[in-house]
Amino acid sequence: MKIIIIGGVAGGATAAARLRRIDEKSEIIMVERGEYVSFANCGLPYHIGGIISDRERLLVSDPKSFKEKFNVDVRIRTEAQSIDRKNRTVTMKNLNTGEEYIEKYDKLLLSPGAAPLRLNLPGIDNENVFTLRNMKDMDTIISWLGNHEVNRAVVVGGGFIGLEMVENLRHRGLDVSLVELADQVMINMDYDMAAMIHTELTDNGITLHLNNSLVSIEKKARETVVSLKDGTQLETDMVIMSAGVKPETTLAQNAGLELGNRGIKVNEYLCTNDENIYAVGDAVEIENQLLGVKMGVPLAGPANRQGRIVADNMVKGNVKKYEGAIGTSIAKIFDLTAASTGLNEKTLKRNDMQYIKSFVIRSDHAGYYPGAVPITIKLLFSPEGKIYGAQAAGLNGVDKRMDVLAAAIKMGLTVEQLEELELSYAPPYGSAKDPVNIAGYVANNIIKGDMKVVQWDEIDGLGDEYLLLDVREKEEVELGTINKPNMLHIPLGSVRERIGEIDKSKIIVIFCQVGQRGYYAYNILKQNGFNVRNLSGGYKVYNCATKKIENPKAIKTVGEKTRPNCFFNTDNISVLDATGLQCPGPIMETYKKMNSLERGEILEIKATDPGFKKDIVKWAEKTGNRVLDVRQEKGLITAKIQKGTDEIQIEEKSVNTGDNKTIVVFSGDLDKALASFVIANGAAAMGKKVTMFFTFWGLNVLRRSDTVHIQKTFMEKMFGKMMPRGAGKLKLSKMNMMGMGTKMIKGVMKDKNIDPLEKMMKSAMENGVKLIACQMSMDMMGIKEEELIPGVEIGGVATYLADAEDSNVNLFI
Ligand code: FAD
Repeated sequence: MKIIIIGGVAGGATAAARLRRIDEKSEIIMVERGEYVSFANCGLPYHIGGIISDRERLLVSDPKSFKEKFNVDVRIRTEAQSIDRKNRTVTMKNLNTGEEYIEKYDKLLLSPGAAPLRLNLPGIDNENVFTLRNMKDMDTIISWLGNHEVNRAVVVGGGFIGLEMVENLRHRGLDVSLVELADQVMINMDYDMAAMIHTELTDNGITLHLNNSLVSIEKKARETVVSLKDGTQLETDMVIMSAGVKPETTLAQNAGLELGNRGIKVNEYLCTNDENIYAVGDAVEIENQLLGVKMGVPLAGPANRQGRIVADNMVKGNVKKYEGAIGTSIAKIFDLTAASTGLNEKTLKRNDMQYIKSFVIRSDHAGYYPGAVPITIKLLFSPEGKIYGAQAAGLNGVDKRMDVLAAAIKMGLTVEQLEELELSYAPPYGSAKDPVNIAGYVANNIIKGDMKVVQWDEIDGLGDEYLLLDVREKEEVELGTINKPNMLHIPLGSVRERIGEIDKSKIIVIFCQVGQRGYYAYNILKQNGFNVRNLSGGYKVYNCATKKIENPKAIKTVGEKTRPNCFFNTDNISVLDATGLQCPGPIMETYKKMNSLERGEILEIKATDPGFKKDIVKWAEKTGNRVLDVRQEKGLITAKIQKGTDEIQIEEKSVNTGDNKTIVVFSGDLDKALASFVIANGAAAMGKKVTMFFTFWGLNVLRRSDTVHIQKTFMEKMFGKMMPRGAGKLKLSKMNMMGMGTKMIKGVMKDKNIDPLEKMMKSAMENGVKLIACQMSMDMMGIKEEELIPGVEIGGVATYLADAEDSNVNLFI
């Protein structure tokens, strides 16, 4: 038998290798229009960003090795031009020589993939407008970055490839703007989950233009101007078009093969309407297993699985069915992982399907083991419990939860069965009740009516018959709450004793930070005869989904000053390992190392001191060096700094007013802390930038009042017990009189309408006063970040000194 495969990457190459494994006799020819077969398209953005440094690593196989290992005749730079189904031939063209020839087949496999959408707009063909599909595209982009002064990029399209390009261009130090037609990125997710990605993007300096679209690209003398639908004009040095992909169906269509709306039509054996022609991958439309309709899934997993199945069917005669897909995907967006599987809410609504949703926010592993971070899981299910879809986002452990949920959906499990899943557990990896189990409990509670919920998007529509009850602690409320007239705050611990304050005639909508304490309060009130609801996902989901996107203060729109050139060669980076050093160790080592570099050279510093992340930015600002990138992954901070240029210094000096105030709060005495905040608030009120640096006993001012369960050594525990826990527990430096004096002064302050210290602190933070806890003193005194009130930054001496340099008042209290 003679088999021809058109397309030599994911689907085609997998099929070729499998065909040979099951059939040693057949003649197999694989043609590929490009220069490479079996390359890692999914790795392309990461080579552009310099994360995958070795280009060769992307080349998984080559024609020679295909010949040697599998006896496959691979012809690169060869394009299949047309198919003659009657005579079972394909006309090939050698793209190097222009020669055309005809090749006969017994069975033909089409795996031509999908091409990037190319919008028909003015300027789309300019030399600095790129798409990314293959090695050649990647090389072209890298060459542009290497040979031109490229400071800014506009990426059009917020899907996987767009987001990966955004991250990788940022990683190279560019100012990146992302333009997206929808009101959110990653349309496979719902807005409430995508909102977390928006925050991650803007936190990493990306400017978002959502609900917007590209109108034209105009090349000016020096830069390119990209015009958007809303009238915004962006100056840029390059444009990446990643607005989606289109199945390559022309060859199939010209051969008279049947096409559907989403690609080439195939049956369950991946066979087209011609029994000798099969098709796989991005070019075909496949069954959505949950909806029973056709869809396109341009992902590597389905293409590879189809390639394997189709090989068996071509050789053994339609023996294996392809069941379809549910659409499982994952993406890294800076430090965030976002993943989804199955149907999202938009699709469920579009298909008029009845569904329930729930949010669960739990740590990726046991909270008492260092480094636990929250994962948000959104589950969508039928009123009977059939799981329709899941979405998750977080810094760690998202992938394994999503894979469990994807398997659960594929196997048709219900939410009740999620409760029963026996998942691996040890403190560094998970919890005895895994977030997936918890998602099952919560969903099942909702179905059984044990917990009635209200969703974040219902809050605005609640009428007077509802009363919102915030059961979080005071400190949490101070940092933000839901602003509604019918609102009551009673911390969970006081709900029982203050139950009389709650109006029983109303429907009580309880919320806490993530939904768990809300559920506890729910049960207390329910058993006391109240009509209650719990806000699913708590304030965290509500806040994330409703808050306005805050773009970074960027210098990008037309007419504004651009940043100096930052184009650099990723091959020439010096590396400094400062891991294990405590503040100011990493900064001092950085300083020494930078002195040995030439202007324009780049230093990559690796450090584990948590304060370094902020310190290095400040230090670079103050010393005229340029921060290209700072990222933190699993506790390791990696910063890339480019040795400064004159322009950077001029730019920085122009924003240095020298009119700011810094206060070192060394004392933990109530009176001295009060004095510090009176001055800080006064200065802030006068429009000054104020930084308060809390060190040694001063750290006690910033401690939370409640007990935080974290792992500590014996000495750290002792220290913690002996010191006052937070502003409310501070004592007077004089006339304390066993606490009598402190009580008296608080009474006097109340009588005279003077705000208590806690309120002064809150006002200070609201007025933009920066509170920095000294990393080194925290380490010495055994105080952990989790013990400090929210909103406090952890920093080292460099952070403080940098602010002090811009100040004309510097107090030590
Ligand atoms: P392809 O792998 O695209 O191969 C098709 C090949 O056919 C092409 O090389 C093309 O040149 C060739 N061809 C087309 N027509 C002809 C012809 N007439 N004659 C000869 N040759 C022809 N998926 C994931 O699941 N996860 C990811 O992280 C991910 N990241 C990605 C990042 C990038 C930048 C890109 C471009 C894709 C990414 N994908 C990812 C998608 C994934 O790569 C595709 O879904 C998968 O490669 C599809 O396989 P395929 O065989 O259908 O097509």
